[in-house]
Amino acid sequence: MSPSLQIDETTLRSIVDQVVRNIAGASAAAPAACAAPAVVAPRREGRFGVFTDVAAACAAANQAFRQLQPFGIEGRVKVIEIVKTLAEKNAVEWGRIEFEETKIGRLAHKVEKLQIVKLVPGVEWLRPYALSGDHGITLEEHTPFGVIGAITPVTHSVPTICGNIVSMVAAGNAVVFNPHPGGAKCAAMAVRAINEAIHASIGIEHLVCVIAEPTLDTFNALCAAEAVRVLCVTGGPGVVNAAMKSGKRAICAGPGNPPVVVDGTGNLSKAAADVIKGASYDNNLLCVGEKQVFVLESCAERFLNELARAGAAKLTSAQLERLTAVAFTNSKDAGGCSHPVLNRKLVGADASVLAQHAGATVSADCPMLFAETDADHPFVMEEQMMPMIPVVRVKTFSDAVAAALKSEHGYKHSAILHSLNVEHMSQMARALDTTLFVKNGASVAGLGLGGEGYLNYSIATTTGEGIATPLTFTRTRRCVMVENLRIY
Ligand code: NAD
Repeated sequence: MSPSLQIDETTLRSIVDQVVRNIAGASAAAPAACAAPAVVAPRREGRFGVFTDVAAACAAANQAFRQLQPFGIEGRVKVIEIVKTLAEKNAVEWGRIEFEETKIGRLAHKVEKLQIVKLVPGVEWLRPYALSGDHGITLEEHTPFGVIGAITPVTHSVPTICGNIVSMVAAGNAVVFNPHPGGAKCAAMAVRAINEAIHASIGIEHLVCVIAEPTLDTFNALCAAEAVRVLCVTGGPGVVNAAMKSGKRAICAGPGNPPVVVDGTGNLSKAAADVIKGASYDNNLLCVGEKQVFVLESCAERFLNELARAGAAKLTSAQLERLTAVAFTNSKDAGGCSHPVLNRKLVGADASVLAQHAGATVSADCPMLFAETDADHPFVMEEQMMPMIPVVRVKTFSDAVAAALKSEHGYKHSAILHSLNVEHMSQMARALDTTLFVKNGASVAGLGLGGEGYLNYSIATTTGEGIATPLTFTRTRRCVMVENLRIY
């Protein structure tokens, strides 16, 4: 006689519950039509998306794109959660690593830019469009491209990568990054950590790939790679032009030089505080950051006083001259015309460092310098990316708009107005025609930080898609059923 196993009812119920949970969990991790692995144990050895060879990275990303498909929307949600959680959890460490590598900007803002990656929209953004009529039903869906080739700037290496992954994977894509060489180490570190977590969750190792030693050659190889269906470029004019000549479709988040107009109808102390908030953020590395101010003569004196009262330090004209001589060199173009060239060594430098070059002394925590200039000054016309704001007096509002338009160079990026006059608001909005137009706030309000809206670090200004969302990285496909399937 075999021994009988005595199990009480409570134990039996808990065993049954566990079995039911296991079955439910297994079916959630691996949908019916899918041969994809369920959750796998973390492992440390392996590339986890970090490649030196572009062809190998593109092949791995292409395979990962196919591996992601059977996991459906739920798989994409898991990846997005991983990116947002890691960015927030590691913000202090990753921010420090990026700061130490790039040596530009402000540490606290590097950290904050990672903490707010959670504000980038995900799969909820993708809504199909349906039509139903006498001829049947039609469904338009937003589907992935496959592999996206992405170029990222040194000004926000890891935040741009995290924001891009959220948008691109929400849309179902894989991605290969060619980061700026100056921010390539932190890019590889973050990509590896993200892939390790994705692998531990859904078993895919190379959904996000990065070229560890990026060069112009790797950029060209990425543009030429057959697996890369579309490019996403976040950077200045050089890389935007190169991408647009590549023959691939390019979504270009290009340069800006955002002007501010102050007409004196609003609150001048708030206008001054807003200008300082936007222009000093990460030492003015943000592409949306205020770069030059045009203020009506009638309120110029009061506005300048408000800037000083809010903590910015004014340079004299002699100090400005000294700083300008270090911040720009002159170069001749092909036609023999001389034009200023930005000294990249001062990009993202602290206001106190800029002050030293000017021969002035300000406290280490001074957020911003300012100086009165004419409208053609290099600090006005060049995208200087420094916390040093030129302020130009103008006679009329129309003069301010004309000067703002000239300084923006037709980038159609961002502009800011401080005014309570709605006609002025309309006039400037129409004349500048920028992607972001912020009224009565700091520039960052245009990215949902202090204004309504959502965040991303890639603002497709040059090619017109606007602040990147998952929709930016989709193909629209139509499915039609003729006459049948309507329910009435
Ligand atoms: P950058 O143009 O020097 O570099 C950007 C990227 O392009 C880097 O990966 C770099 O290696 C690569 N690159 C540069 N020139 C290239 C060329 N000729 N061919 C191929 N690749 C090239 O810019 P940056 O200093 O890293 O970033 C600041 C610039 O980016 C500013 O102009 C800023 O306005 C712009 N930006 C725009 C946005 C946006 O969303 N519109 C966001 C961030 C930065």
